[in-house]
Amino acid sequence: MIGRHIKNVSAPMAGMALAGIFACSVALASTGGGTDPGGPGGTTLSANHTEQSQRPAASDDREDEREEREDDAPPVLPSDCEPAEAAEIEYSNGRIPDEDLCPLPQEDESLRADAAAAFYKLNAAYHEEFGEEMCVRSSYRSYDRQEELYESMPAGMAAAPGNSNHGLGLAADLCGGVEEEDTPEFEWLEDNAGEYGWIHPDWAYSNPYEPWHWEFDVGQN
Ligand SMILES: [Zn+2]
Repeated sequence: MIGRHIKNVSAPMAGMALAGIFACSVALASTGGGTDPGGPGGTTLSANHTEQSQRPAASDDREDEREEREDDAPPVLPSDCEPAEAAEIEYSNGRIPDEDLCPLPQEDESLRADAAAAFYKLNAAYHEEFGEEMCVRSSYRSYDRQEELYESMPAGMAAAPGNSNHGLGLAADLCGGVEEEDTPEFEWLEDNAGEYGWIHPDWAYSNPYEPWHWEFDVGQN
């Protein structure tokens, strides 16, 4: 109810935020991660980024897994993701190396392995309900990526670098209807995500209003 009221007030802001996130995602993909100031090394960085996301062997395995699954069956957690150990290694915010991130079914998206494992289960349940996989606009974000976002968004619409759960690989910004609070997709998640360890944090109903922002609840898992 609070959220509904706030939503009407801040819908234009929410729209701006969405546009900002989406635009930045596209920019990220084309610049190879934005961790380099550019210049002569730019081309090399892009090439590295394309290849570096996973070790070659793991990448091949994942390709195979994707090809083998039935078109209408939701994907399963890649076999080299290790959720049981994920919480034991603590990285500072935005500094998780690629090999300790677990790719999501959605291209170029990843989370800490325990959050990812729960996400795959949630995604499968969502698929069963809606006949399609969840839409993810943004998941793990490096420190540099968060800094870019922070500087490009209106004040208060993105956490300062080092303070976002995206930097811990524990948050995902969703789309496909979830970005609005009164949709069937949002309401289904409200009712069911908790069963899979995912929550919509209280603050995201109003401060700022971010219906698209969901988190893996480490306290519960
Ligand atoms: Zn978010």
